[in-house]
Amino acid sequence: MQIVKEINRIGVFTSGGDSPGMNAAIRAVVRTALYKNKQVTGIYHGYQGMMDGDFIPMESRSVSNIIQLGGTILKTARCLPFRTVEGRAQAYKNLVEAGIDGLVAIGGDGTFTGAEIFSREYDIPVVCIPGTIDNDLYGTDYTLGYDTATNTVIEAIDKIRDTAASHDRLFFIEVMGRDSGCIALNAGIAGGAEAILLPEKATAIDDLIQHLSKGARQQKSSSIVIVAEGDHNGGAYNVAKRVKEKFSHYDAKVSILGHLQRGGSPSSFDRVLASRMGYAAVNQLIAGNTRIMIGMRGNEICTTPLEEAINNKEYKLSEDMLEIAEVLSL
Ligand code: ATP
Repeated sequence: MQIVKEINRIGVFTSGGDSPGMNAAIRAVVRTALYKNKQVTGIYHGYQGMMDGDFIPMESRSVSNIIQLGGTILKTARCLPFRTVEGRAQAYKNLVEAGIDGLVAIGGDGTFTGAEIFSREYDIPVVCIPGTIDNDLYGTDYTLGYDTATNTVIEAIDKIRDTAASHDRLFFIEVMGRDSGCIALNAGIAGGAEAILLPEKATAIDDLIQHLSKGARQQKSSSIVIVAEGDHNGGAYNVAKRVKEKFSHYDAKVSILGHLQRGGSPSSFDRVLASRMGYAAVNQLIAGNTRIMIGMRGNEICTTPLEEAINNKEYKLSEDMLEIAEVLSL
């Protein structure tokens, strides 16, 4: 959607779960805006900071030395009061007082939903950047942080495989992904996992046991099973328990990777993606576009109306990738 109001001061914030690459995106937003002679205000703690007036003017040096940092220098939060009319009225009042007349929001679909409602309610332009390790947003092949998180998981798999092989062990490694198996599938392929359990595709425990038994017969000394946290069998501990009941000769261990997948220095891919998305977000705002999400399709930056991004779910696991995982685990 296009609007014709000139923007003078852009407010930038991060919201929802943090992800590596958010700082690189903040940096790109700040520097692109300054380059275009616009002013920038950082909003701390997402919508909570908007409601509290927790703002900081940003200059070029405010974002020095942050491109390599995980997390978000602007902090993030989940803010229930922003879901209320009164909460959003308070936030708008603070924005007007600070002279903020355009917003760049970096976060996931909850953040986009808040941005869409707020932008319609107060006619304030907003452009969103997808920041979540889950890679589960419609309208983009990649979200910020997904590549880094996948690399973190691969590093962990490699280390666990060293000990698994030394002790002839079966390891169940649980990775993040309540609804999305993107991290599990890609890290599983890259880490040479023997099996990958995904939220999108139910795997029967008996089939898994059959698969692992076949590997054992073929003299596999160790096995790694990647379990996405949203797998239908109820997580790695449950899967391990049920497999152990029938597969007792293996020394089975469980490792839950947890929040370490959210942290760390962003990969080169995430830094470049963040830089491109931050640059595009500011240019879209200045061009008069609002209620859109920046994405990347193929290697091209693109935009999707927020409403479409929020209301659609995209199935990101290709049949090819699923087959590759299966074939290469023989
Ligand atoms: P992640 O994918 O990491 O969970 P997210 O952006 O989806 O990130 P949420 O906690 O769902 O994270 O949403 C972030 C914030 O967006 C919420 O804390 C709330 O302040 C705001 N928000 C979400 N839904 C709405 C809504 N329906 N109306 C107004 N604000 C909302």
